[in-house]
Amino acid sequence: MTNEEKQSCDPSQCETCGDASCASRSQAGLHHAVSGLDDAKLRTRLGRIRRKIIVMSGKGGVGKSTVAVNLAMSAMLSGRRVGLLDVDLHGPSVPVMLGLVGCRLESGDEGMLPVEVGGLKVLSVGFLLKHPDDPVIWRGPMKMGVIRQFLEEVDWGDLDLLVIDVPPGTGDEPLSVCQLIPGLDGAVIVTTPQKVAASDVRKSINFCKELGVRVLGVVENMSGFACPKCGEVTPILRAHGGRVMAEEMGVPFLGSIPIDPLVAELGDEGKAFVESAACSPAAGAFREIVRELAVD
Ligand code: ADP
Repeated sequence: MTNEEKQSCDPSQCETCGDASCASRSQAGLHHAVSGLDDAKLRTRLGRIRRKIIVMSGKGGVGKSTVAVNLAMSAMLSGRRVGLLDVDLHGPSVPVMLGLVGCRLESGDEGMLPVEVGGLKVLSVGFLLKHPDDPVIWRGPMKMGVIRQFLEEVDWGDLDLLVIDVPPGTGDEPLSVCQLIPGLDGAVIVTTPQKVAASDVRKSINFCKELGVRVLGVVENMSGFACPKCGEVTPILRAHGGRVMAEEMGVPFLGSIPIDPLVAELGDEGKAFVESAACSPAAGAFREIVRELAVD
């Protein structure tokens, strides 16, 4: 069996499958081991969070973290209590996008406290690194342990929504999130017009289906160009591909976000785009997607 095939094994079959080297088997075994530790604590913490959404993508560079940050911000700005958990362990970009580089976690009476920006509660592996350029060199079981700690030891308080940004692909981090979170509401899959035909997007959707995670929908990012002067959106790559692909795969289409140079500019400056450029078409698109997600 190839590694790729092993990744897509159904973990519920692990008890009966004889392949001892399979990645799914070791993950499932690990899950059982760690779940025995303190499931009650994990459930209590997560029980205070009404909706939990994972943001995934097939490949890097499609704007997955941008979407996660701006959906979380948008939901917070509309009056919800929102948390953002960045488990992109090898490339955490949330601290940069929200101007939180150098922030450290502090302890409160009931656990570690997320960093707050505006009213948004943020937690990123970036807050654990001495230097932003330090690499994270962890194997799968360690990654799952850290993600579990983020969910179990952090005092998120009562939240309406937790948005979880995972690395691209279908590796340890998304698998851990899907296995560890009881009552995960589902996944938002981010792609770009030129990547909708790529099998990576379909892999992400199939990954969710195999793990029994609901696909809340597909977001097509960098869809057309929003003129910074007049706001008109011009399609520059194949239009509506995301919608067609979502229909073909039998999952909802949540909306399109245009390319806006300010998204990148403000992201690099650590300013939340939906807040700083609230009147732009792209910010409107983020708000529309939050409405589609019906996070109330
Ligand atoms: P990923 O998490 O998929 O690797 P990022 O969210 O880090 O991707 O985005 C990659 C780059 O693209 C960043 O510089 C980001 O600012 C930029 N970007 C994302 N979405 C848009 C958009 N709609 N318009 C312009 N730039 C964007």
